[in-house]
Amino acid sequence: MRIDLRSDTVTRPTPGMLEAIMNAETGDDVYKEDPTVNELEDRMAKLFGMDEALFFPSGSMANQAAIKLHTNPGEQLICDKWAHVFNYEGGGASFNSGVSCKLVDGDRGMINAAQVLNAINPPDFYHSPLTTLVCLENTTNKGGGACYELDTIREIREVCDKHQLGLHLDGARLMNAIVAKDQDPKDFGSLADTISVCFSKGLGTPLGTVLVGKKERMKNAIRVRKILGGGMRQVGYMAAAGLYALDHHVSRLSEDHKRAKEISEVLKESDFVRKVEPTETNIVIFYLNENLSEEKFINDLKGEDIHISNMGDGKLRIVTHLDYTSEMHSKFLDVLKNYK
Ligand SMILES: *Cc1c(COP(=O)(O)O)cnc(C)c1O
Repeated sequence: MRIDLRSDTVTRPTPGMLEAIMNAETGDDVYKEDPTVNELEDRMAKLFGMDEALFFPSGSMANQAAIKLHTNPGEQLICDKWAHVFNYEGGGASFNSGVSCKLVDGDRGMINAAQVLNAINPPDFYHSPLTTLVCLENTTNKGGGACYELDTIREIREVCDKHQLGLHLDGARLMNAIVAKDQDPKDFGSLADTISVCFSKGLGTPLGTVLVGKKERMKNAIRVRKILGGGMRQVGYMAAAGLYALDHHVSRLSEDHKRAKEISEVLKESDFVRKVEPTETNIVIFYLNENLSEEKFINDLKGEDIHISNMGDGKLRIVTHLDYTSEMHSKFLDVLKNYK
C-alpha cells in the first residue's frame, strides 16, 4: 500500500468525477464556446461575488496572469518571504511581468497591514521601484496551511486603498481555509481584486485553476492567458471535473483537516520531533531533533512505502488529501508511533 503524503496534488479523479468528465458537453473555449467552462467560470464568479472568472490550466499561470494584470515592468510587489509566487513559480514574476518582489518576514507565511505599509516604497522617490501590488496566500503552503483572519486582510485592504495598490490573493487552497474557518467566500471576493483558486489540490481534479476578479482588473485577462500559452480548446472535460469537485469535494476537506491534526498530535508526542507548527488545515510542517537527519527519516519512511516532502531549512511537510484513506491513516500513525 503506497501512502503518498508529499502533496494534495497526487490524487486521481474518483469514479464519479470520471463520469462527469466523460459526460461533459464541450466546445472551443478559445472562442468562449465551451458551455461547461462557461458554467464553471460563472459559478465561481457568483460564489465569490466577483464580476468575472477565467479558467487556467495551472495555479502558477493564474497567479502570473494576475501579477501581469496588476503591474507594469519595473514595478514591485509585496509578498511574504515564503510566498509561492516568489519561491515556486520559476521566477515568473520577473520573467513574465518584469517586476521585483519585496519580501516581508511574516508569521507562517502570513503578513499584516503594518508590514505591508512598511514595505511600500515612497511613490515620489524615483530611485526605488514603484510599489503597485500586494500578493497574499491563503492558506499558506510553506507556512503549513495557515489561515488568515478576515480582519487581517481587511486591514491590508485599507492600506492598499490608501496607497493605490492592487490586492491579489493566491487562493490555491482557499477552499481549505473557507471550510476550516467556516467563512463566506464572498468576504474574500469583497476584499481582493483578484483571487486564484486551484481545483487540482484538495479538490482533486487533474488540472485547473479559476481566476476570479473585478471587471476593471480582468479586462485583459483573456489576452494575457493567450500570451502565456493558456488558451485551451475542449477543456470543458476538465471544467466538468471542477464542477463535480464543487458539488462533492468541498465539505469533505474537513476530513483531511481532521487527519492532519491527528498526525500532528502523534508527531508532538514523538521524541524524535523537535517542533510541529500549528495545524489548521491539511498541511503538517514539523522539524526533527538535531540527531536525526531529514534524509534518514524520509528514507526510513520510504522503506514502509510512505512518502513525505522535504521543504528545506529543516522543514518536513505532510499533506493529507482525498486519496489518503482511513486504512492508510491507521498504518501511518502506527509507523510514527513505533518509529525508532
Ligand atoms: C500549488 C500552488 C499554486 C499553483 O501551483 P501549480 O503547480 O501551478 O498548480 C499556487 N500557489 C500555492 C500556494 C500553491 O500551493
